[in-house]
Amino acid sequence: MTRELIPAAKPIIGDEERAAVDEVLRSGMVAQGPQVKAFEEEFSEHFVSGRECVAVNSGTSGLHLGLLAAGIGAGDEVIVPSFTFAATGNSVALTGAKPVFADIELDYFCLDPKSVEASITDKTKAIMPVHLYGHPAAMDQLRELADKHGLMLFEDAAQAHGASLHGTPVGAFGTFAMFSLYPTKNMTSGEGGMVSCVDSEVARRVRLLRNQGMERQYANELVGLNNRMTDIHAAIGRVQLTKVDAWTKQRQENAAFLNANLEGVITPKVAEGATHVYHQYTIRVEAGDRDEFVRRLREEYQVGSGVYYPIPNHRLESLAPYAPGLDLPVTEEAAKTVISLPVHPSLSQADLERIVEGVNALAKAGA
Ligand SMILES: *Cc1c(COP(=O)(O)O)cnc(C)c1O
Repeated sequence: MTRELIPAAKPIIGDEERAAVDEVLRSGMVAQGPQVKAFEEEFSEHFVSGRECVAVNSGTSGLHLGLLAAGIGAGDEVIVPSFTFAATGNSVALTGAKPVFADIELDYFCLDPKSVEASITDKTKAIMPVHLYGHPAAMDQLRELADKHGLMLFEDAAQAHGASLHGTPVGAFGTFAMFSLYPTKNMTSGEGGMVSCVDSEVARRVRLLRNQGMERQYANELVGLNNRMTDIHAAIGRVQLTKVDAWTKQRQENAAFLNANLEGVITPKVAEGATHVYHQYTIRVEAGDRDEFVRRLREEYQVGSGVYYPIPNHRLESLAPYAPGLDLPVTEEAAKTVISLPVHPSLSQADLERIVEGVNALAKAGA
């Protein structure tokens, strides 16, 4: 009997989402409308303590518009991690500003405040940490740094719906924060992004920028884009919002099982005061060939896994020109050794046991 592959990620979309989409389609009004407005309000209450939220068509758009709304542009520098999805650095570069890549802490895979401080110049305008894998960045220390140097703080919370630090939810720290609603994230709207804003002025500018720079038709105040979310996507997101807490709890329980049972690999740590929502459950394998480990896990144990991210942003062909000669040793070490194991809420107990069996056997063999 051949076993089915345990996928690295598995979006859950059910009958309620289908019914909600059907209702929007039947209404005949499918572009941005009442569903988007309701989704923004519900997301705001659910995740960011009532901070004003603005929905857009992707997480990447959310970063781009948030940066523009905060006044970032040519001549500015924004400090970001290199160990992240390329959208983080891309969005900075697309405003005309320079992404400046800082190193991370190996325990938490998020920005190292010491490396951030060393990267500050007289052009630095902001720090944009990523709450990578669902673990909050060191927002307390980064806030101190930002205040000390007169910088803004932004958040790439694409992977961290519901994560928190000392009781404050991610998305409630920065001038703006972006949550992605891509299908593999902890909740989805199909494609989409949500921007949480520190005040109504930032929110207003994000709203203008997503809609050609206008609030009233043909009264364009700013040069803007069309980055609107549709009511079809918002309807999916609203249903997912009612389920995401249970999914997160399941992710945390799956992670606890893996933490308790994996041997011979470095399991993910959680900083003091942090709540981790395990978008990814990321181990490190220091001995042997990581890519071989991934291959054998799939072929011999039918366990899918992912490497996020094998090439740091500052070495991508697209972003390398912003960082000539830059060396980020901790980022390099992470990129060489990380493996993200399945942790999604659809895993069965048998799946979890097979993941443990495969990882422990390969670790023991020094694969
Ligand atoms: C997914 C992701 C993004 C981009 O979000 P999209 O919705 O795919 O545009 C940005 N940053 C990080 C860290 C991500 O994981």
